[in-house]
Amino acid sequence: MSHNFERDVIVIGGGPAGSTVARYAALGGANVLVIDGRDPIGTPLQCGELVPTNDEMRRLCPDVPDMDDLFKTPDSAISRHSKKMHLVPPSGKPLIFDFDGYVLNRVAHDEFLVDLAKESGAEFLVNSRVEKVEENIVRLKNGDTHSAKIIVDAGGHNGPIRRDYWTEKSTKIPVKFVLMDGDFGEAVELHFGSMAPGGYAWMFPKGSGANIGLGIQRSFSKGRSLNQYTEDFISKYEGEITFNGAGSLPMSGTIKKFVKGDYMLVGDSAGMVLPSNGAGITIAMIGGRIAGQVIGEHFANGTPLEEYEKRWKKQMGKVMKNSKRSFKMGSMLFRLPDWILNMLFNRLTKGIIWRAVTCRRMLWII
Ligand SMILES: Cc1cc2nc3c(=O)[nH]c(=O)nc-3n(C[C@H](O)[C@H](O)[C@H](O)COP(=O)(O)OP(=O)(O)OC[C@H]3O[C@@H](n4cnc5c(N)ncnc54)[C@H](O)[C@@H]3O)c2cc1C
Repeated sequence: MSHNFERDVIVIGGGPAGSTVARYAALGGANVLVIDGRDPIGTPLQCGELVPTNDEMRRLCPDVPDMDDLFKTPDSAISRHSKKMHLVPPSGKPLIFDFDGYVLNRVAHDEFLVDLAKESGAEFLVNSRVEKVEENIVRLKNGDTHSAKIIVDAGGHNGPIRRDYWTEKSTKIPVKFVLMDGDFGEAVELHFGSMAPGGYAWMFPKGSGANIGLGIQRSFSKGRSLNQYTEDFISKYEGEITFNGAGSLPMSGTIKKFVKGDYMLVGDSAGMVLPSNGAGITIAMIGGRIAGQVIGEHFANGTPLEEYEKRWKKQMGKVMKNSKRSFKMGSMLFRLPDWILNMLFNRLTKGIIWRAVTCRRMLWII
């Protein structure tokens, strides 16, 4: 193999995963280029915008070290700091939990992560879509090519390396959401039941207005479209819609391998979304930091890239396993008629439901 590559690392995609890989790989001394099809990165918005605070992350992911180094969310990217989460069954009567979370201004958040990566020495090429990757060459849609020793796919679940070099499939949940003007209180809400079959709906209040949306599993949806479910759910809230968005989330958890030869997958492209609650931003950043650090060590002292998979399992293995299990249980339970779900959301089950949503073992046996 020729060693005359332009870069040590090319990262495809500068979202939370890609910018974080770039930041830590550059800090480790690697020469990094991030290529992203968007300009600016992070637009248009495709997100519910909720992330746990660093304290909440320490509770949710106890094996992940040094959260404060990883998550440096600036005030300018925080739209609301919420302290309560309502888990709402079809009856509308919520179970109320303490939950420390930020409803972000996600576009500002992604821009901040890009800036952190640039400050660490990574370079960015935006408005440049990658068409395909062949060996160590990245081919752009405009015909240009770039080469690197290591190529990281952080391009989401349709990223070009995941698409062309991995056969494993992920369950994807299509999602629609709106931004709405108005006053929606302080608590973030997750709704479960026939209003979002196989998925969930959300209302996350922002500093002003709210982000409201819904995702479903199509196989559960009995012929109704995502649009119909979304319209029904959104019509419960009053306010002017200022933005419509859509996307899809990988919901079967991480895939088996993140590394093949000189290729690495990070973030959504590796399935790094917790299926029981849809958290993908912070989880992509946890994966991104591990990948970036291992890349730095690979160039410094020959650490094998597979070390990334080992460290991921150590830091996130248990949480991901519990989250996958909860999602499977939820998928069965949420097929039940709404009146049964209403009964199941009660004071006695409250603790178990919370453990499931927050990726802990629900009971000692499961
Ligand atoms: C509607 C919706 C709501 C969500 N709500 C939440 C939430 O409230 N909280 C939460 O934590 N997570 C949420 N998620 C999940 C979260 O957004 C993702 O898990 C997270 O963004 C993953 O980060 P990433 O960097 O892997 O991918 P992305 O953020 O998708 O970034 C991928 C980047 O790669 C670029 N790219 C892709 N393909 C190419 C290509 N071929 N060439 C060049 N560039 C390319 C894209 O332009 C993009 O910038 C939501 C997702 C959706 C769709």
